[in-house]
Amino acid sequence: MKVPRTLFLEVTVAAHVAAAVVAMPLASQAGYPCSAAANRHFDFWEGRWLVQTANGALAGHNTISRILGQCVVREHYTTPSGYEGRSFNIYDASRDVWHQTWVDNTGLLLLLEGAYEDGQMVMQGPTVDTAGAVTLNRITWSRLGGDPDRVRQHWEVSTDDGSTWSTGFDGLYIRQQSGVDWDVLIKGGTVLNGSGQPGFSADVALRGDRIVEVSRTPLHASRAARVIDATGKVVSPGFVDIHAHLDPLLRLPGAESHVRQGVTTALGGPDGSAPWPLDEYQATAQSLGLGLNVGFMVGHNTVRRAVLGLENRAPTGAELEEMMEMIALGMEQGAWGISTGLKYLPGAFAELPELVALSRVAASKGGFYTSHLREEGLGLIESVQEALEIGRQAGLPIVLTHHKVVGAPMWGASSRTLAMVDSARAAGTDVMMDQYPYTASHSGITILIPAWAMAGGTDSLLARMDDSVQADSILAGIEFNIVNDRGGNDLRRVQFSRVPWDATLEGRTLHDWAVRDGLDPTPSTGARLVIEAVRRGGANAIYHAMSEEDVEAIMAHPQTMIASDGRLVELGDGHPHPRWYGTFPRVLGLYARGRGVLTLAQAVRKMTAMPAERIGLRERGQIRAGWYGDVVVFDPEIVIDQATFEEPHQYPLGIEWVLVNGQVTVENGEFRDVRAGTVLKRGRN
Ligand SMILES: [Zn+2]
Repeated sequence: MKVPRTLFLEVTVAAHVAAAVVAMPLASQAGYPCSAAANRHFDFWEGRWLVQTANGALAGHNTISRILGQCVVREHYTTPSGYEGRSFNIYDASRDVWHQTWVDNTGLLLLLEGAYEDGQMVMQGPTVDTAGAVTLNRITWSRLGGDPDRVRQHWEVSTDDGSTWSTGFDGLYIRQQSGVDWDVLIKGGTVLNGSGQPGFSADVALRGDRIVEVSRTPLHASRAARVIDATGKVVSPGFVDIHAHLDPLLRLPGAESHVRQGVTTALGGPDGSAPWPLDEYQATAQSLGLGLNVGFMVGHNTVRRAVLGLENRAPTGAELEEMMEMIALGMEQGAWGISTGLKYLPGAFAELPELVALSRVAASKGGFYTSHLREEGLGLIESVQEALEIGRQAGLPIVLTHHKVVGAPMWGASSRTLAMVDSARAAGTDVMMDQYPYTASHSGITILIPAWAMAGGTDSLLARMDDSVQADSILAGIEFNIVNDRGGNDLRRVQFSRVPWDATLEGRTLHDWAVRDGLDPTPSTGARLVIEAVRRGGANAIYHAMSEEDVEAIMAHPQTMIASDGRLVELGDGHPHPRWYGTFPRVLGLYARGRGVLTLAQAVRKMTAMPAERIGLRERGQIRAGWYGDVVVFDPEIVIDQATFEEPHQYPLGIEWVLVNGQVTVENGEFRDVRAGTVLKRGRN
């Protein structure tokens, strides 16, 4: 893709060519062949290469080709995380040495000189960064077992002028099929490009990690190493999940349950809870190789807990300062914004001034704000108001995440919250929403317990339960929530998803538990069982307490995006909310195709370009030439979720191909653990 920087580099290279021509008149004259030695070296270098780290994760793609009478070698290296470098290599036959000049898009300059000897290319020289710092580099390329298509690159760095060396990169070059223009050609499909406009017939060609052509006239299959027949299928940008619980990422780096929904980028760290320290976590995740691209928010609850523990009070000036510094650090390490979870501890103890102060820090770094609102039931309207106020005072884009109306007394209130969104936007607050397509939520069982009772954590709660006056008021608070909020006024509406101390309760309800123990299944029994569950070690549950009318009204709003709120999961583990498996196919198959709540093009837009733009991702979320090769091919007649509240562990149907950074990760419906994803960081990606 031609961007200004690339153009600049082309000019730089051209200047070098001019200089080289002056220095080496023989090489510049047509008809003079390169020396036999140089040609042997070209054979070593030339080609298109997939570059892997030592443990097999995708590092990038390198294209090395001859130019100028075949006597000069040009190199172009790109990575999925947006790094790009070019080098220019000249063979000096008089001394039998190569010169390499490398420049990258961080401003780094690398000047190497070396030779080809004993089957190895060894080059050495200084790196100069934009601050003028110099390090010495030595790079060795050697064929693995003599295989011309597998080359080890061992990059060593010295900061003491060559006395001692440490490894900077040790990876593998794998030669890609040559003689073709594209690695993958997706032929004959209908492209929904993410804009929300109607689909059009086009062929989509990919090379390396990028889409390189989107052509309304057919492209020749013979020009591609691999052809995907998309006749009758939709070709869409990979889905971008703006609210994902990526916590098991280091255990499940392939992220199959997400990728099989068509998700190619997921944003972790929602609801105020995020990895910390972020840079260490990101480095570990990257080193494992990832099945999709991931980014992270910085979490308010994470930061507040680190500074104030679970105390129910406002921060002191010094504590606020410390939290602000942590937010700033997270943002500098690549977080995309700040998330809050004001229904959870300790976020529930934070008041507006603290939230505005911290959000201003994220705003100053270009981040956005996403919030699990303080209340989603009786207090919903005030909680939407609070989020809008934070957006207005802190001056940053906001997202009301998993927007919903909980509890029968509030059903229908989406008409009010959506009107609030419209009027806030009209008044200049940049507010959007995301949503999962189900009438049940999922959370820890403690979400039914009043926040004041949870101050200090579980031990403090249980201590308060020993005091009869406090116990009465805690039980009354839980009972109130069972009747009016997430309990749905029926113990059958609280369904356990994970019960570490009694797996037989998983998938069963509070009502089932009461009956099993010979108890009257009333709200007051339910309140006692909630405390009992906490006493035994806690539990997670699914709360069936929303109305379909609100779900559809919110989904149809033009500012609503689709997000899973799902956690990475593997088959058979617990009894999860079905959204973990089915969110995106369910919107496409049930709400777009089935009920017509959205057009298919609108549905795709809500799960691609809209979240990509809200997050601030560069060159992702649309099918466009030059953008990253994150692509889904799905069958619009078949696509549907299969996971249900009874049988959640089921992958969806109709998601046939998923490409992550140009690499086929779902192949004709089968998952491939290729780990082509990368960690995306604000300011870089
Ligand atoms: Zn949440």
